[in-house]
Amino acid sequence: MAKTEDLTVTIANREGTCAECSIEIESGTMITRKLPQDVFCLTCSDLDHLVYLPSGNTALTRRARKYSTLSAVVMKFSKSRRRNERQGVLVTTEGLVHAEEECLSDEDQRAKRRERDQVRTEKKDGKYIQEFAAEICRLFPGCPDKTASDIANHACEKYSGRVGRTSGAKELEESYVTLAVRAHIRHTETNYDELLSKSYDREWAREQIRDKIEDVVILWQERSIVIN
Ligand SMILES: [Zn+2]
Repeated sequence: MAKTEDLTVTIANREGTCAECSIEIESGTMITRKLPQDVFCLTCSDLDHLVYLPSGNTALTRRARKYSTLSAVVMKFSKSRRRNERQGVLVTTEGLVHAEEECLSDEDQRAKRRERDQVRTEKKDGKYIQEFAAEICRLFPGCPDKTASDIANHACEKYSGRVGRTSGAKELEESYVTLAVRAHIRHTETNYDELLSKSYDREWAREQIRDKIEDVVILWQERSIVIN
């Protein structure tokens, strides 16, 4: 059966009277037209059994129309933009239900896929965090294991823009590992954060703690000084 793709329902911009049953048509109600001056209420248009589905969910709209034996596009003339704008569609109840079921099952599928992807990512990242921690321990044998693990976790934290997530760190370049270690020292072994809270002048604050960071870096690089 051919679809009535071009059937258009208009939201009335002004009051009127149905050309067939003479019922009063309020502004804002749905009508059809034959000639510009002839408006018909939805009942006389044989469309009042349809349900309105506003625009917004493209997949739902497409499917609802597909499964509806009769559907119409709902348009409204925008006075400010001087053009007809699509508001939604009229579809059959059965078509809408069918479409909703299908979209829901898609969401289900997507949720399951997200779950699978997440498990994979977590496994991979767990391995990566271990490698990152091992690299810290290799470069900084004086760094306590627990600290190395904390630094690696922090640096690799998912979805953060921290150094551990950059592509360079993925290859475990020494400079990235060192950056992560220095960042950790800056925030935990010095009063950097306190300085920042006093005056948000990063350059000045970094100047204040430069020596302290170097001290800890040297300490951690020296295996002989390890005191765990
Ligand atoms: Zn009528």
